[in-house]
Amino acid sequence: RGGSAEKEIPFAKPGSLTRVYAVASGKGGVGKSSVTTNLAAALAASGLRVGVVDADIYGFSVPRMLGVERKPTQVDDMILPPVANEVKVISIGMFVPGNQPVVWRGPMLHRALQQFLADVFWGDLDVLLLDLPPGTGDIAISVAQLIPTAEILVVTTPQQAAAEVAERAGSIALQTKQRIVGVIENMSWLELPDGTRQEIFGSGGGKTVAESLTRAVGADVPLLGQIPLDTTLREGADTGTPVVLGQPDSPAAVALRGIAKGL
Ligand code: ADP
Repeated sequence: RGGSAEKEIPFAKPGSLTRVYAVASGKGGVGKSSVTTNLAAALAASGLRVGVVDADIYGFSVPRMLGVERKPTQVDDMILPPVANEVKVISIGMFVPGNQPVVWRGPMLHRALQQFLADVFWGDLDVLLLDLPPGTGDIAISVAQLIPTAEILVVTTPQQAAAEVAERAGSIALQTKQRIVGVIENMSWLELPDGTRQEIFGSGGGKTVAESLTRAVGADVPLLGQIPLDTTLREGADTGTPVVLGQPDSPAAVALRGIAKGL
């Protein structure tokens, strides 16, 4: 099945009304997919038409986090994405049999991403979120080539070591000339029963990344918000109901809804 080479990517057309956010992180495990899926669910709950492309081929987890149970279906030469929690979702995991590891190389990844963008029937979307693999890999460059107007959201933890790699992931925008929307700090603290905050991963990472990216790109890169450690967020991810929907008043959900509102 060919064809996507000739097919246009609707989001890359001049005048496209879809805002495209590529969610990036320096390393894995910082909560990039959790942030992507919760922002998607929060934006959809506010009435926007939202799609998510899970481009994190090495650690695809978006379908589980959003509660996607169905596979995509094919109608003529278009792929219909499954919908869960009012979000349209497509993931490389949906095309890999069983739980097999993905061992694709750069050009295949580029092609897969191109198909996700051009061959999937997204309809009119207000927002498309792309969950990138961690680091400064091929996929980030592919995104910039396929949708130059895609804007970057950087997720980091407060830890200084994490912040340094997050900076590198963000500074790819210098080469690709993409706009960095801002930095989201996750796992910022744990609120104890007495109301005090325990900073398990230290502090300051999000602010550091925002400041150094501001210097690097010569434009304001704000810290968009800080999300605390929260059991309800992890539970929501495991059960397929994003915490912003399932436990909207929990500390993590309040922070995530605030960030979604500001986008
Ligand atoms: P990444 O996409 O960066 O690899 P994930 O979103 O998969 O990270 O998160 C890694 C793990 O940490 C998951 O099990 C997720 O549920 C958990 N997690 C992420 N953020 C939080 C948080 N703020 N509080 C509690 N658990 C979290």
